[in-house]
Amino acid sequence: RAKHGGGAGHQVFTPQMREHSMRIGRLENELKRGLGRDELRVVYQPIMALGEGRVVGFEALLRWQHPEHGLLEPGAFLDVAEDCGLMLDIDRWVLREACVQLRRWQQESPHAPPLTLNVNFSARHFAAPGVYEQVRGVLADTGFPPARLNLEITESALLARPEAIGQTLEQLRALGVRLHLDDFGTGYSSLGYLHAYPLDTLKIDRSFVQGMLTSPSSAELVRTIIAMAKNMKMRVVAEGIEETRHLDALRGLGCDYGQGYLFARPLGAEEARAFARAH
Ligand code: C2E
Ligand code: MG
Ligand code: MG
Ligand code: MG
Repeated sequence: RAKHGGGAGHQVFTPQMREHSMRIGRLENELKRGLGRDELRVVYQPIMALGEGRVVGFEALLRWQHPEHGLLEPGAFLDVAEDCGLMLDIDRWVLREACVQLRRWQQESPHAPPLTLNVNFSARHFAAPGVYEQVRGVLADTGFPPARLNLEITESALLARPEAIGQTLEQLRALGVRLHLDDFGTGYSSLGYLHAYPLDTLKIDRSFVQGMLTSPSSAELVRTIIAMAKNMKMRVVAEGIEETRHLDALRGLGCDYGQGYLFARPLGAEEARAFARAH
């Protein structure tokens, strides 16, 4: 029917869609250009040991210093980066940049306690061939100790290509790299893979942390995740701790680590370093 034209079903490309795809196309070109022009930045959010209130490391988070639109957060451009195949390059760049940075801090303050580094890898990236070799290469080039690198992946990464993923995770683990499951609880919630893969840490999504004071089901979920992780000898990091009440509740449940605006927002390199010294 649509083939013969005229009907509403024929018009698959509305002006709004056209506008949208032009915007995406523009963003794509700008991002490609920006990558070559040093417009990407890494900011660092402290991860704290909740008991002592001490910094244990940082999560590296991507920003784009756009020439017209200012500093953009990943929500504004990661989808586009994924769709145009730039995510691999970007993730690799973030990994290298952050490893160089933390290694430099360590060299400048050799007696400071060693810091861990968390880096996010997109699900699609993780399923691509050669991820292990890439990570190993960056670690070798930068001299950052593999045992202090935590790679954050999401549940969707584990579902993508189970056989290939399993092997990559084992190889990374053998190198000493630790694997953190990000946004835990928001995904497909099949718990089988917690046993199937060598994961070290669950990161409780901030929606549950922030909901736990008002929603009994969120509170129960947080309690369950922490208990389950302990049973499985995994660690837990709570995301999105914004208030002292969140912190108190999490401490009460035995949550060991956390991050959030209560401690610090993602910081530029110099600020992050000062924060680490002070805490
Ligand atoms: P994520 O990995 O779950 O990172 C945590 C996000 O929560 C960050 O947002 C951080 O700024 C924000 N956050 C931290 N504490 C709080 C808090 O107390 N309250 C609130 N409301 N938010 C808090 P950001 O930097 O905008 O990053 C968003 C997502 O983009 C990340 O979520 C991650 O999935 C992705 N991402 C960031 N950098 C990279 C990267 O280099 N590579 C890839 N593949 N993904 C990245
Ligand atoms: Mg993360
Ligand atoms: Mg997260
Ligand atoms: Mg998230």
